[in-house]
Amino acid sequence: MRWQGGRRGGGIEDRRGMGGGAVAGGGIGVAVLALIGYFVFGIDPSTTTQVASQFGAAGASQEGREGTPEDQAGLFVDVVGRNINEVWAQKLDGYQPPANIVLYEGGTPTGCGYGQAAFGPFYCPADRQVYLDLGFWQEMERMGASGADFAKAYVLAHEIGHHVQTLTGASEQVQRAQQAARSEGEANRYSVALELQADCYAGVWAANASAVSGGEVALEPGDLEEGLRTASAIGDDALQRNSGRGVNPESFTHGSSEQRMQWLQRGYQSGDPAACDTFAGL
Ligand SMILES: [Zn+2]
Repeated sequence: MRWQGGRRGGGIEDRRGMGGGAVAGGGIGVAVLALIGYFVFGIDPSTTTQVASQFGAAGASQEGREGTPEDQAGLFVDVVGRNINEVWAQKLDGYQPPANIVLYEGGTPTGCGYGQAAFGPFYCPADRQVYLDLGFWQEMERMGASGADFAKAYVLAHEIGHHVQTLTGASEQVQRAQQAARSEGEANRYSVALELQADCYAGVWAANASAVSGGEVALEPGDLEEGLRTASAIGDDALQRNSGRGVNPESFTHGSSEQRMQWLQRGYQSGDPAACDTFAGL
């Protein structure tokens, strides 16, 4: 993927090095994590944590440095984040970028509760921010995903895809449908549709990346394949198999490897968000 030397402007808030354990409001011995109404990339939080009630300080925000990270990983997010927003400004009328892309380490307060790296990258609709612990890049490789830049960009584009769903109202519709669902399996199917749409939106971004930002960001041969390898590695069936559990489609929240690859590819081939109707047939 080509991005070096590209313009910055992804709207970064850098909280790295601020001490991951800091909880605004302090003094609350929270052993259980709370993160409600969030959208993660690929890790089912129920496998690593329990979700408890939201604690008081959850809405309080920890202020980080605005601006311009100097390291390669931070710079990458800054440049690619801007590019993704430029694509969406063309594809969606009235598009507004996420409030910030927050880089953090370990854990950080968010508008959706206390966010932890264990959740993987996530988007919080309440404060309209994307949260990234860049340690996830290594975690991804450990899971068999690609370490290529495009694989990382896919993660970011997926999360900004959830931001788009907040703007279009899709996220809210899904939450309502889930509340009315008669079974966990039914609620999960809505979650899968929402997640696959975010994958498709990542493909839409990829198809249009070089058409904006003066062509400074562009895919290179082999990039799509790296993205598909990543989508496959983080399919729910692959994750369940790798964690030694049986594969149970009813419990899927993000979609199978096959589905994640399929929708990323569909977005890429069409370049058009209208091709991302993952809700048809639900
Ligand atoms: Zn997601």
